[in-house]
Amino acid sequence: MALQVVSTGIRLRPSCAGHILTAMKLMYCAHCEDIVRLFPEKRSCRCGKSWGYYLDDNATTVQTWPGLSIGIANPDFAAAHQTFLAEPNVFSPVLSMRAWINPASEVDVKFVEGEPIADEQAEPLADEPPAAISGRS
Ligand SMILES: [Zn+2]
Repeated sequence: MALQVVSTGIRLRPSCAGHILTAMKLMYCAHCEDIVRLFPEKRSCRCGKSWGYYLDDNATTVQTWPGLSIGIANPDFAAAHQTFLAEPNVFSPVLSMRAWINPASEVDVKFVEGEPIADEQAEPLADEPPAAISGRS
């Protein structure tokens, strides 16, 4: 089945990392399973263990580990949003969006240690950040 591409009239801005598509980044907390959209202002998940924000380049995010950095393709979101606004009661394949988990090697995601919280037990060694994201490359 071929998807019909809908022009939204939204221009894409090239990112510093040279990606073809720009994306909004979300942070997933591995502890409380909350998902938070990141902004230049520091935001935290529901349990308070995870937090993150965008740096001044509006492309690089800093967020806590363990956790996931999730990208959503902005053009897909814009097209889905426009499609929904045009016909809110109709399903269309254009309502679907590409989303992905950024690998730990992604240059525009910086991981830092998460906040200790009262009700958690000691983190197992498997939750240690890989050397590639801890600055010991
Ligand atoms: Zn949390």
